[in-house]
Amino acid sequence: MLKISTPEYTPHSHRKTTIGAIKGIRCTMSGPSCTSCRNELMMTELNPLDAVALLREIRTHLPTPVREEMQLDGSLVFVGGDPGEVVVRVRGNKVSVAVFGVVWKGPHTPVVRPSLVGSLNWKRLPASRLTIGLHILLESARKLRLAKYRKCKRCSETRPPEWMHDDKTCQSCVERFLGIVH
Ligand SMILES: [Zn+2]
Repeated sequence: MLKISTPEYTPHSHRKTTIGAIKGIRCTMSGPSCTSCRNELMMTELNPLDAVALLREIRTHLPTPVREEMQLDGSLVFVGGDPGEVVVRVRGNKVSVAVFGVVWKGPHTPVVRPSLVGSLNWKRLPASRLTIGLHILLESARKLRLAKYRKCKRCSETRPPEWMHDDKTCQSCVERFLGIVH
């Protein structure tokens, strides 16, 4: 069984009548010797999130606006931010968090190419640990994406890398001022 740290025990009443625990009698055990209460606590702590709670967690922690799309392979994909910042894919027992990215397949064909930050087995991890892990992944992915944004020297707009002509000038300014057509 997965080993988890248990909080300090204080004298308490057993919540259920089970073998070794008599209802109404205060449990004066402190520490792991009170197996009944410990097991109950561990069961609660080890419970995973249900699917509805997982999706709610993703939706509320992604940058807005959030777009959702069910893909042909049955996976549910979320894209947070506009321009996109973070991509989350849920398929089976796996939730994957990636940095939004775009590659150009030709001058007018942007293709979304997310780069993976990490995946978690959401059905196996206890809810509290999954939530912490998910938040870390979402935050890291967003920071990685925003770190790639550049400020255009001509229009002073901060733009994602796929909108930049080079490190200094955005594509709109290049077209407007320098006459370069992509
Ligand atoms: Zn510009």
